[in-house]
Amino acid sequence: MKLSFHGAAREVTGSCHRLEMLDSDGKPHAILFDCGMFQGEHMCGSKNLQAFGFDASAIEAVFISHPHADHTGRLPKLVKEGFRGPIYMVEPCVGLAKLVLEDAYHIMKEEAQKCGSSVLYELEDLEAAFAQVTSVTYHEHVEFAPGITVVFHEAGHVLGSSYISVDAEGQRVVFSGDIGNDDVPILPATEPISHADVVICESTYGHREHEPMSTRSDKLREAIKAIIKERGVLMIPAFSIERTQELLYEINRLLLQDLHTKIPIYLDSPMAIKATALYRHFKQFLKFDTSVMDDPDKDFFSFPNLRETLTVAESKLINDAVPPKIIIAGSGMMSGGRIMHHLIRYLPNKNSRLLIIGYQAQGTIGRRLYEGAKRVRIFGEDVEVHAQVSAIGAFSAHADMNKLTRWLTPEDGKIPRKIFLVHGDPEAKEVFATHLRHALGTEVTVPEYQSSHEI
Ligand SMILES: [Zn+2]
Repeated sequence: MKLSFHGAAREVTGSCHRLEMLDSDGKPHAILFDCGMFQGEHMCGSKNLQAFGFDASAIEAVFISHPHADHTGRLPKLVKEGFRGPIYMVEPCVGLAKLVLEDAYHIMKEEAQKCGSSVLYELEDLEAAFAQVTSVTYHEHVEFAPGITVVFHEAGHVLGSSYISVDAEGQRVVFSGDIGNDDVPILPATEPISHADVVICESTYGHREHEPMSTRSDKLREAIKAIIKERGVLMIPAFSIERTQELLYEINRLLLQDLHTKIPIYLDSPMAIKATALYRHFKQFLKFDTSVMDDPDKDFFSFPNLRETLTVAESKLINDAVPPKIIIAGSGMMSGGRIMHHLIRYLPNKNSRLLIIGYQAQGTIGRRLYEGAKRVRIFGEDVEVHAQVSAIGAFSAHADMNKLTRWLTPEDGKIPRKIFLVHGDPEAKEVFATHLRHALGTEVTVPEYQSSHEI
């Protein structure tokens, strides 16, 4: 068997790994785990435009771990270059992946126009890719070829996230996708791995430990209490998938059980509203704390004080609502989207609060605010910051060093023979590789972009 790495190698985004193997008749096969987009850079001159490093038409199937663009974003490009096989993903992943890719397409198109660069693919390639999607269930045995079986397992990262195992040539290869945090209120736990020989493992936070989950509820409660008292506005910039839904669930629980109040919560992001609708539809794939929510048929993302503002006109009406109020809007890194209008309006107000719950990349307004800037420039306007700015780290959707190590140490006692670390900054991967070599006593490789390895 041979593994090759065509993205997320010594970096976080662009997840795309190729597995070549023989079936029981000795016939060769090639599949991909993920086909994601490189992010954090403009499309102009981007790595996404580079060749894949393999012949797209020679790939027989793609297995998608979860809907995020850095795991799905180059699928239409793959189809454009001649891939005609099935794209496997679990059922709740399909709608979310479509939402993510349509959004990515519009951003890409805008950026390409600005810099006169070519686009990665056209809308018809995106539609063609979805015509090739085959939805599967968790634990279904996909008999891909004689003697080759593929199975999806719960990863606990977002709705519809999986890690994927392939049995072939008498070995089991496991691809982690993204592994979720422990004790996420609305997601099932990550399933343990068993009898893996080789693991391709993400390492986003392989170098650090997260703050405990209880800290996040405390900080959220404190922020809501403060704006109620001061009649202020709480702004929470959020990513549309998973974090928004976790927030809605947590805020609802706090308001109901703890604070006994019903202040309005505005969900002011068309993409988050659409994603939340999918979360409602697939709630059987989620796990709720039913001890506090005793009605089994209750829709955990709808409550009377939640206002979803889909249109621009509805969004503008938020301004007229008398505080206190909570506004959840995109983008998560404050690099665009409706949150920008709320920042202009409420950052100068000392009774307002900005709660940062996600990673803020260098160069974004979010990063500047996170680092304590007293003035920021938004849409050509100087905006003074008098609002209180705070951050919660525990909303990360990724496992930390302890969780990943536990996941790689299965209860059946069989430590993987080889581990390849992907999906992490070089520094995170080196720290985690050293830790794993020491803790598990096994071979750990940090593969180079476009490198191939016999396994
Ligand atoms: Zn992810």
